[in-house]
Amino acid sequence: MSKMRDVRMRGFAERADVEEVERFLERSVRPLPAEPVPVGESPGRVLAADVFAEVDIPGFPRAAMDGYAVCGEDTFGASGYDPLSLEVIGEALPGHGFRGKLGTGQAVRVMTGAPVPDGADAVVMAEVCEERDGRVEVSEPVAPRKNVGAVAEDIRRGEVVLRTGRRLRPQDAGVLASLGMAVVSCVRRPRVQLVITGDELLPVGSRPEGCRIVDSNSVMLSALVARDGGEILPFEILPDRVQVIRQALERKEADVVLVSGGSSVGKEDHAPPLVAELGSLDFHGVAMRPSSPAGCGRIDGRIVFLLPGNPVSCLCAYEFFAGPSIRALGGRSRAWPHRRVRVPLVRKIASAIGRTDYVRVVIEDGRAAPVAISGASILSSTVRASGAVIVPRELEGMPEGAEVEVLLYDDELPLGEAS
Ligand code: AMP
Ligand code: MG
Repeated sequence: MSKMRDVRMRGFAERADVEEVERFLERSVRPLPAEPVPVGESPGRVLAADVFAEVDIPGFPRAAMDGYAVCGEDTFGASGYDPLSLEVIGEALPGHGFRGKLGTGQAVRVMTGAPVPDGADAVVMAEVCEERDGRVEVSEPVAPRKNVGAVAEDIRRGEVVLRTGRRLRPQDAGVLASLGMAVVSCVRRPRVQLVITGDELLPVGSRPEGCRIVDSNSVMLSALVARDGGEILPFEILPDRVQVIRQALERKEADVVLVSGGSSVGKEDHAPPLVAELGSLDFHGVAMRPSSPAGCGRIDGRIVFLLPGNPVSCLCAYEFFAGPSIRALGGRSRAWPHRRVRVPLVRKIASAIGRTDYVRVVIEDGRAAPVAISGASILSSTVRASGAVIVPRELEGMPEGAEVEVLLYDDELPLGEAS
């Protein structure tokens, strides 16, 4: 049981610094164990062990051109005026080698990807050859080894091809397949349980009606979790009832629990005391804006994040605390995944010493302007904004003209700006 007292309706006696919470989460979160993943599903996953090549690639000398496999030395002196004539003794195709051995004065027709037959050490390209009546005239010499992919020139058996911690790219998965691998050992993806609370909430797809609003946080959080490599478990919207929320917090399937709403100190805010009761409420109340009622704790092996219901606060608390932890559990970097740009501020940003601010800004003409209407409940502020500027705790604000780093919401450059 946590020694933290029930702060409901009394307000936060003190708030933790963002950095304190971050340090706590860094200490508490370790990558999950490995699991085998089919190679075809591996792009985007994180390798849990070094991958060694068990075979040479290519495993046979391979024609790199369409043409004729020859013994290079045979072709020395060949020219357009004085072409060399070789006997064509057969053909090698990709997947179908030529069974015999090539002797002096002989050639084998080959296609790209075919094995180069024994006795040949070069491929003379089709463009400088003319075949007629079982013979080929070669009008250019070819050096030994030319146009032949040597055994293991790509990957050598025993070599480390990809290292632990690598976030697999599409082409990495291609290489794993080339090596003959069916599965690869990856860090398990964190399983994330959404606990969406609020009597006022209607499910996604409903029309807002009277004083009831549509749950938007689950949509946003699901996408953020997917971005960070987590897997969302099935969930429902829960009413603000202690027993129901208790049951949700007692479920054991997840690695991470994201509680949306009811995270503060109001009388309907059931989650914080429940987390304290069922496990430990390690932090509740953070010196930041928005999302000061955010918190986090642990129940058995699960990390629980208390995300305020206000959509901007929910986004902000996710980005500061839940996102890095989910990425770290999945073996990724804790760092924020956003692209960053440095631009000057059009207008000053006011903050307060001792508080970390997450300020939405619009970038226009190469300068950042704080979004005017930007309360924590104004989700559209995050839609209008190009990204966010973080004002660290030790600053009172940032003056007009100051260079700021903007964490961009878009991964890609807008159309027209792409080079
Ligand atoms: P709470 O954190 O539960 O006190 O909620 C703060 C505000 O956020 C209230 O206006 C709620 O209606 C709103 N809110 C809570 N949960 C959600 C949600 N899932 N989607 C959109 N708004 C929400
Ligand atoms: Mg609520």
